[in-house]
Amino acid sequence: MTTLNGIGLITGAGSGIGQATAVAFVREGCQRLTIADMSASGLQKTTQLIKSLDAKTQVLELLVDVSNQDAVNNMVKKTVETFGQIDYAVNVAGVTCRDRSLASDYDIAEFDRVHSVNARGLLFCTQAEVLAMRSQNPRVTSEIFDPRRGQRGSIVNIASTCGITAIPNIMPYVVSKHAVVGITRSFAVDHGNDRIRINAVCPGLVDTPMLVQRKEMERKFGNEGDQQSTVGEPPLGRNAYPEEIADTCTFLSSSKASYIHGSMIMADGAPNVAQWEKQGFVPEENFKKHVSLGFLAAAVFPLPIDQLAGIKLPAGINASEWDEFHDSILIDEMARCGYLGTVWGINGGATVGGAPLSVYANQSQKQKYLAPLLRGAQRHCLMITEPDIGSDVGGMTTTADKSKDGKHYVLNGQKKWVTQGRWATHALCAARTGGPGPKGVSVFIVDLSTKGITRTKMENSGVSSSGSTFVDLDEVLVPAENLLGVENKGFEIIMSTFTHERLWVGITALRLCRVALEDSYKHALKRETFGKPLFENQVIRQKFSKMAGLIEPTQFFMESLVHRSVRTSPLEFSPLAALLKVQAAHNLEKISRETQQVFGGLGYSRTGAGARVEQISRDVRVLVVSGGSEEILQDMIAKSLKKLAKL
Ligand SMILES: Cc1cc2nc3c(=O)[nH]c(=O)nc-3n(C[C@H](O)[C@H](O)[C@H](O)COP(=O)(O)OP(=O)(O)OC[C@H]3O[C@@H](n4cnc5c(N)ncnc54)[C@H](O)[C@@H]3O)c2cc1C
Repeated sequence: MTTLNGIGLITGAGSGIGQATAVAFVREGCQRLTIADMSASGLQKTTQLIKSLDAKTQVLELLVDVSNQDAVNNMVKKTVETFGQIDYAVNVAGVTCRDRSLASDYDIAEFDRVHSVNARGLLFCTQAEVLAMRSQNPRVTSEIFDPRRGQRGSIVNIASTCGITAIPNIMPYVVSKHAVVGITRSFAVDHGNDRIRINAVCPGLVDTPMLVQRKEMERKFGNEGDQQSTVGEPPLGRNAYPEEIADTCTFLSSSKASYIHGSMIMADGAPNVAQWEKQGFVPEENFKKHVSLGFLAAAVFPLPIDQLAGIKLPAGINASEWDEFHDSILIDEMARCGYLGTVWGINGGATVGGAPLSVYANQSQKQKYLAPLLRGAQRHCLMITEPDIGSDVGGMTTTADKSKDGKHYVLNGQKKWVTQGRWATHALCAARTGGPGPKGVSVFIVDLSTKGITRTKMENSGVSSSGSTFVDLDEVLVPAENLLGVENKGFEIIMSTFTHERLWVGITALRLCRVALEDSYKHALKRETFGKPLFENQVIRQKFSKMAGLIEPTQFFMESLVHRSVRTSPLEFSPLAALLKVQAAHNLEKISRETQQVFGGLGYSRTGAGARVEQISRDVRVLVVSGGSEEILQDMIAKSLKKLAKL
C-alpha cells in the first residue's frame, strides 16, 4: 500500500539513517526523490539500492555540503525545478565529534565545525524547505487518507537523545542536537498555520558509520568497547537498526501522522533509566509523557475520581473501575526498570504527596493543588523528616506559628531527604502547631517558591535521580487556608500516608528482587568458568532456589494484602502492611547480596550486565529505612498484634 505518493528530499542520504530513509521512502511508494550527501560513492550506492527496489523511481543525486547555505538553497531549487515541488524532507546530514574532552576544555574550532553542520546546516535546510513548501497546495500523502488531513509539506529533523539530555565529553555534539530540538520547536510554532508539519526524531545508538567513528574515538581515548561508559545500555538490549529510524521518518512524513506536529519522537530502545540515574534527574520530556499516559494520576491512591476529568488512565481503564489491584500492578510495573531513583524521581511525589490531598483536602484545596498535581502542572513532595527527627515523627521541631492577624502560619525549621524536593513546586510539610508529641503536629500545603525557602541537593549512595533535597524554612509565610485537615491532627495524616507507602515499598522491593534474580540468572547461564556455565554448579543453583524461596511466599502475602487493603480496618491492616514492608525489604537485602555474588566483579560495576544489580545494591538500604525503619516497624507490629489479640 502506498502511503507516500509525493516528492521527497533527504540529506545525508549517502549512508546510515539517510540511506535507509531513502530506501524506506521508495518502499512506501515514493517515486521521485532527491538524495543529497557529500559522498558521491555513497549516493551511487543509495541509488543502486533504490533502483533494485523499484527501477522506475526517479532519483536526483546532489553533492551538497549542508553547512553552505548557497548549496542548500540550490538543492531545494533543483528539486523543485526537477520534480515540481517538495512534499517531505528529512534532514539527516550531521557529524559527530572528532575529539573527546571535558566541556571546559573543548576546542572552539571543533565546536564550530560540529555546530556548522548539525545546527546551522540543518537550519539552512529547514528554512529553504519551508519556503518552498509554503507556496504549495495542501494535499494528503496518499489517496487513502481523508483530504482534510492534507498538508503543504512535512519536515523531519534528525536530532538525538543528546538533544534532550547530555552525555559526557562530547559537548559540541550535545549542544548542536539541543539546537536541532530548538529549531524544530520554533518552526513548529511559527509554521503550523502554514500546514507544514515539522517534527524531530531522537535516536539513541544506531548501527551506522557514525557509530563506528564514535567507537574509534572511544578506543582512542581509552574506553574501548565501553559504549555504556558514555551512553548507557539500551533496555531493549541492542542498538537500533538504521531501518528502524527510517520507518519512524516515513511514518512522520505521511498523513498517518497528520496530527503529530512539533514533537520529539524518542527512538532510543526505551527511555534509558541508567542514563537518568547518572545525570541525576528524569528529563522533563519523559515526565510529560508519563503524565500524558495517565501514570502520574494513577499513582495517587485512593484515586480522586472527582478530579480526573479529561485524564486517561493507563491502558484506558475507566476511573470507576480502577481498584487496588490496578494500583499494585502499576507500582510493580514501574519498578520493573530496576532503578528506584527513576521511579521516585518521576512519580514519588504524587504517590506520597497526592494521597493525603486525595483524602484530607477540602474542595477548594483539591481544585487548587490536587487537580494540577494529577495533570503534572504542579509537582509535590512530602516534608516530614528533620535533621534531628526521623523515626520519632511526633518529636518534630519545625514550628508553624499563627501570625497575629490569623491570616498566615509562619514556618521555621529544616527538612531532610525530601524526595523530588529539587524540582517540586509544592510540598506537604509537617510542623508543630501545638504542644509536644504527636498531638501538636499539623500538615500544610506549601508553595515552594515562597520567600524564606532554601533547597540544597543531597548526595546519597543511590536513588540519584529521585531529587533528594535538604530544605531550610526561614520565616516562611503559609496562608492559613493551606492547613490540611484540622490543626494539631496532622499526625493522623502522616500515619495514613505511611500505610499505603509500606504496601508500595513491599511491592517495589519484591519486583526489584525479581529484577536482580533475572539479571543474575541470565548471567549464570551465559558465563563460563572452568569450562562450563556458572549455572552448572550446584552451589550456584542453590542460590537461585533459596532466592525463589524468599520471593514467592512474600508475593502471595503481598497479593492477599492488596485484596485486604480496602476490606480490612486500618487498625488491622496497618501492621500487616508494615510486616510486608519489613519482610520484602529484608528479602531484597539478601537477594541483592547473592545476585551480586553471582555476577562476581560485574556486580560491582556500574556498567555492563551487572549494572542493575549493582544499582539495587546501593538503593536497597533506603527501602529498609524510609517509610518507617525496620526496628520501629517490627516493634509497632508486635505491639499492634498484642492490641488486636486483646480485642
Ligand atoms: C533517600 C531517602 C529518601 C527519603 N525521602 C523522604 C521524603 O520524601 N520525605 C520525608 O519526610 N522523609 C524522607 N526520608 C527520610 C526517612 O523517612 C527517614 O530516614 C526514616 O524515617 C528514618 O529516620 P532517620 O533516618 O532519622 O533514622 P533514625 O530515626 O535516626 O533511626 C536510626 C536507626 O535507629 C533505629 N531506631 C530508631 N529509634 C529506635 C528505637 N527506639 N528502637 C530501636 N531502634 C531504633 C531506626 O530503625 C534506624 O535503623 C528519606 C530518606 C532517604 C534516605
